[in-house]
Amino acid sequence: MTPGSTRSDARAAATTVARRLREAGFTAYFAGGCVRDELLGLTPTDYDVATDATPDEVRGRFQRTAHVGAHFGVVLVKERAGEGDHTIEVATFRSDGSYSDSRRPDQVTFSSPEEDARRRDFSINALFLDPLADEGGASAVIDHVGGLADLERGLVRAVGDADARLREDHLRALRGVRFAARFGFDLEEATSEAITRHAVELRGVSRERIGDELRRMMAHTSRHDAAWKLQLLGLDEAMFDRHSASAPRTLGRLSEPGDGRPPALATCLSAWALDRGAVIEATQIAGLVRHWRERLCLSNEERDAFKRTLEVHASLERAWWTLGVAAQKRLASESVFTEALRLVQAQRPEEMVRIRARVSELAAEAGGLAPEPLLSGDDLIALGLTPGPRFRGLLDVLYDAQLEGRVGTREDAERLARELSRRSDDG
Ligand code: ATP
Ligand code: MG
Repeated sequence: MTPGSTRSDARAAATTVARRLREAGFTAYFAGGCVRDELLGLTPTDYDVATDATPDEVRGRFQRTAHVGAHFGVVLVKERAGEGDHTIEVATFRSDGSYSDSRRPDQVTFSSPEEDARRRDFSINALFLDPLADEGGASAVIDHVGGLADLERGLVRAVGDADARLREDHLRALRGVRFAARFGFDLEEATSEAITRHAVELRGVSRERIGDELRRMMAHTSRHDAAWKLQLLGLDEAMFDRHSASAPRTLGRLSEPGDGRPPALATCLSAWALDRGAVIEATQIAGLVRHWRERLCLSNEERDAFKRTLEVHASLERAWWTLGVAAQKRLASESVFTEALRLVQAQRPEEMVRIRARVSELAAEAGGLAPEPLLSGDDLIALGLTPGPRFRGLLDVLYDAQLEGRVGTREDAERLARELSRRSDDG
């Protein structure tokens, strides 16, 4: 592990900020996640700077600042490096006061680097790094809480008394799981015991924060580990009112799309729901999705995709080989089809191969999977049919005939439309 082995423009911007503070006589270190990530050889997503300068003193030194967390002594500094601007969070060393809402400290007091390290959640998140150490010759990493040793051992350990730290802020339970899964670390014993002991209290944490943590867990390839840990620690019960003891296998076998992005959140949630033993009949999907949506604060879009992914997966599992050509084509053109197929692949890879072969066959037919409809509602009106509730059904029947290759031209379609409308007038 070489401190600072990962260089980037964001790092250069943060170093400039630290240098400027140092030149004005203040202490300034990189702090928290960015130090941890660099020591692990990962590229930090963003850089935070911790300093003994007060927020007013920080603002006095920089042109472009925003005072976001007045309460917490956080100033955002915009600094240019390389191609663009980078926003560096500059926070004054502080200790946090009491937590009356188990979530945010009631007040904070500006303090020393050591006390600032002690208010942080896990030892691996409580390291400082002096980016100018090379220039001054001092040791680069400043470790007040044994974080370096825990990084070496691969341990997520609460800073100080685990029980007290988990009681202060129940979200830390989810953060601990997320970091352990993401880095393939173990949760230190006292920490995991405290998490289990306080698991039910997760119910008091806002759904937005829980949903946000779970989103981050699901977005990482370690999602299976994260879900398993949530279950082993009893946190899943606090999240969903139901504990599952079965391993999240489907979630663990989800293939990555291969474009550098994770599978859709809806796919991950669907996989986990299937693993959790949801017997998914069409009627149950709606209830399950409503429950998860409420618990995880899903957006409308996420909810719709979640529901549709489970529904299409259920059709693939239960009905695919009994469906006619039109119904298969309609299903295969659904926006979530590939994602639902990813679920089949995770559970029954040979079945996925068979379904995909069938879809290729259908796609190779004239018109393909989802041709433009030969006739629109306006076309039916032009044919002299009267618009009404029967229109939608008629258009569906016409489109099915087109998908099945029974009508191939506009004239064929018009003939069928007239015939169908005559028949329904007679009937
Ligand atoms: P990520 O890569 O997920 O952003 P991070 O460690 O940077 O990880 P942040 O949520 O950005 O996490 O928080 C920055 C730092 O603030 C953490 O490293 C930690 O020291 C401290 N911190 C964040 N949330 C808490 C919390 N709930 N309790 C105590 N300290 C926290
Ligand atoms: Mg961060």
